[in-house]
Amino acid sequence: MTRITERLFYRIAKRWIAGYTLQDAMDAARNANERKIYAILNRLGEHTPDRKLIQQYVEEYLKLLETIQTENLQATISVKPSQIGLAAEIPLYGENLLKIIAAAEGEGRFVWIDMENSPYTKSTVEIYRELVGTHKDLGLCLQANMKRTESDLRDLLPRGGKIRLVKGAYPENGEVAFKRRSELNANYLRLMHILFEQNGFFAIGTHDEKMITEAKKLSRDHKADFEFQLLKGIRDDLKSSLLANGFRVSEYIPYGPEWYNYSKRRMRERKRNILLLIRSITG
Ligand SMILES: Cc1cc2nc3c(=O)[nH]c(=O)nc-3n(C[C@H](O)[C@H](O)[C@H](O)COP(=O)(O)OP(=O)(O)OC[C@H]3O[C@@H](n4cnc5c(N)ncnc54)[C@H](O)[C@@H]3O)c2cc1C
Repeated sequence: MTRITERLFYRIAKRWIAGYTLQDAMDAARNANERKIYAILNRLGEHTPDRKLIQQYVEEYLKLLETIQTENLQATISVKPSQIGLAAEIPLYGENLLKIIAAAEGEGRFVWIDMENSPYTKSTVEIYRELVGTHKDLGLCLQANMKRTESDLRDLLPRGGKIRLVKGAYPENGEVAFKRRSELNANYLRLMHILFEQNGFFAIGTHDEKMITEAKKLSRDHKADFEFQLLKGIRDDLKSSLLANGFRVSEYIPYGPEWYNYSKRRMRERKRNILLLIRSITG
């Protein structure tokens, strides 16, 4: 990407991210709180084998937790395993995750773990399974496009697993993932029913109104402890209407100079976003 294309892409991407710095993240979290929305902050960065960089990311998460506390924000964090050690070696990831969990527990805050592309799925689920029994404020993202997810969900829920259900943002092959939109959506609905039929806390992470309508219906029949989670910069109208209907809403807010991969995924999700980019380049 040339510098100029990068600048134009950033102009579009900045709706999805808070900015480059921790202070930008705090401002975005405060803005969410002012709209009665809980903030879930993520320091961008992924697939990092470099131990020095991994250490820096971990320190940044610790600093983030500390600043959330001192600035008295309704917020917490979501981490990517391959950012904090999983792309180097599994034990390093476990150690770093435990450091972050300990800091969050000291402040009574929940920690979410994002789910990345399929090479990381097995280890991410296994480490979560090991930790969830002893760390109750720990949640894991599971992706409805992955064929293994129903079995992971059925395994994790009885152990106290707290799940954020999403469709899945990474291109995967047909061996591990549902490729057809219809199959993916059917699986999302199936998994959502399983979540509503158990007793623990969970999150519905989608902007899809069909899924959200079904979740609202299910919430009438089940006394479920759940919240809706949506991404920064996407469907703010939906966030307001969910709040007006009395639902809890969280906003996932990424920040950091490594905005490119994340924004590429958001761009891919909607043709209209690509048109916006082309128009800003040509216009
Ligand atoms: C809180 C949260 C956390 C997430 N964490 C993870 C994670 O850890 N791992 C992972 O793989 N994925 C994660 N995702 C991303 C997720 O997997 C999907 O890629 C993303 O949410 C788009 O899917 P959708 O459910 O909104 O449905 P879609 O069917 O893709 O979209 C439904 C509707 O939402 C709107 N919409 C969706 N995306 C956009 C966009 N980019 N721009 C504008 N409008 C849009 C459109 O109106 C669209 O018609 C997360 C999503 C959320 C909300």
